[in-house]
Amino acid sequence: MSKHRSLSYRFWAAIAVILGCSVVLGAILISTYYRELQATRLSERRLEHFQLVMSALNHLSAERGPVNSVLGEEPKADSPSRQRLTRFRANTDAALERLSPIPGFSQQLAETRRSLAHARQMVERLDRQPLQSRSPRDFRDVVQAMFAVVDTAQSLVDAAIGDFNTTESDHLIGTALVARMLSEIREQVGRMGSNIITSIAARTPISSQQRTAHDIAYGRVLGFWQLVEQQTSANTDPQIAAMRRAVNEDFFGRGMAIYRDILTTGEDGNYGFDTTSFTNQIVPTFASLERLRDMYLESATAKMKANGEHARQLLLIISTVTLVALLLELALVAASQTLLFRPLLSARDAVMALAAGKIGQSYGTPRGRGEIGSLFKALNILRGKLIERDALDQEKLKLTAQLRQLAETDGLTGILNRGALEQRAASLLATRPASQPLPLILLDIDHFKRINDSYGHVAGDEVLKETARRLQAALRPTDVVARFGGEEFAILLADSTAAPGQVAERLRNALLAAPFALETGAALDVTASFGVAAMAPAAGSWSDLVEAADQALYEAKAAGRNRVVARTAA
Ligand code: GH3
Ligand code: MG
Ligand code: MG
Repeated sequence: MSKHRSLSYRFWAAIAVILGCSVVLGAILISTYYRELQATRLSERRLEHFQLVMSALNHLSAERGPVNSVLGEEPKADSPSRQRLTRFRANTDAALERLSPIPGFSQQLAETRRSLAHARQMVERLDRQPLQSRSPRDFRDVVQAMFAVVDTAQSLVDAAIGDFNTTESDHLIGTALVARMLSEIREQVGRMGSNIITSIAARTPISSQQRTAHDIAYGRVLGFWQLVEQQTSANTDPQIAAMRRAVNEDFFGRGMAIYRDILTTGEDGNYGFDTTSFTNQIVPTFASLERLRDMYLESATAKMKANGEHARQLLLIISTVTLVALLLELALVAASQTLLFRPLLSARDAVMALAAGKIGQSYGTPRGRGEIGSLFKALNILRGKLIERDALDQEKLKLTAQLRQLAETDGLTGILNRGALEQRAASLLATRPASQPLPLILLDIDHFKRINDSYGHVAGDEVLKETARRLQAALRPTDVVARFGGEEFAILLADSTAAPGQVAERLRNALLAAPFALETGAALDVTASFGVAAMAPAAGSWSDLVEAADQALYEAKAAGRNRVVARTAA
């Protein structure tokens, strides 16, 4: 039983280790991919925030276009420029409003809004004055205030990129930087326009200061653009490549040509544009820049989404595989328990029971087929053979007993023969106290020869049988009756308290009691002579006792037969 326990203990310990390892492995894999999925989702959200900031920044820059137009005209509440400005302002406000739910942006957002409100107030104040009384200086102040809004809003971009820096991949940060550079280019070229639009409004020549500012801004724009081209050259998206070409054609081709034209015609203050037509021509050349930035961010977002989807699918697959592996392991454990482990243990019990000779119970074949099934078949065959052998042993024992009885029995009378008598006598002499005498009665049928002679040998046999029957009937079952020889019988009295002479007398009378009825119908009076002797084991041997009894018998014969002579052995 203790081995049972230790075997199943080891089995369960191994199972626990295997299951534990699977669970740990699964948990590590699942948590790794879950974290990856979470990180991707976080990146997606940050990228989305960054896009929103970029969009807001773009609206803040774009608002300068209609401002320039409005300030280049007489104040008029419902002029097309005014309406356009109102629309642009609404768009800017909406873009800023989209940032307000984002945590961590509130302070920068508030600063931007304050700066924007201030700039708009300045625009309104100047617009209330007639066109003639607006000085280039007032104009420049308003433009500077609008620039300041975008400068203030850079803190939002910093916050959005700052979020990336801690955890995101280099790729994402690279994307954000490219987007920021594109935004910066867009801002610089806008400022280049604002820089000269005051002169267009006032119809004054472009100053050398303005030309220098223009050249510096253009130099910066070219520098940024080179960086952007380097960074985006690895991007294989054909749409992005096409948009890069569009920037080169629209902005660096057409847009810059407009600037160059104004710088040339502006030498004498005689421009081919007013502020509105200038704005209407130059602003569309920025569109491809804005579009490129948006596309670049969208492509990054799409890649991020694809990564997220990939991580989600991996998580699903790994979770499923882990679960299936665990279920399989459990099923394997259950199967090995019911199909292997338990049957093997009961086979072991069965073998032990067989070895101990317990062949009573049969062994069912649990789920019949296969190796375990054949093991139980073999056990049942073994048990069958043991049962057969057992039956054979029983038969042998019976035969042996029968043989012994045959060997001990006198064939004619069915009582013990002389050999058996001698064995009984020997064991009685060996087991009784040395001083306790063993009584022996010998009897011999009188004139038996005559019976044979007169009635035939068969009648003689009948007399012998009837004599044996009467002797047995008159004795106790514990007394030993044997045929001693021809018509002689011997009786050993196991009970040492019996008086052997009296017993002999009773036996003599049993023969006399009635004539012996023969099968032929004749009735015979049969008598016998008795010699009685007793001897203690210490006093002499079996043959001494027989000799003494025989002597007494001889004396009974000599004294006239049909009598008892008792004699004590010397
Ligand atoms: P006594 O009174 O002196 O004993 O005379 P008896 O005739 O009985 O003595 P005896 O020993 O001369 O005769 C015994 C006879 O018993 C001799 C033998 O033929 C016969 N006899 C011995 N064994 C058997 C037997 O198994 N069956 C039969 N029918 N006769 C037997
Ligand atoms: Mg005789
Ligand atoms: Mg005789």
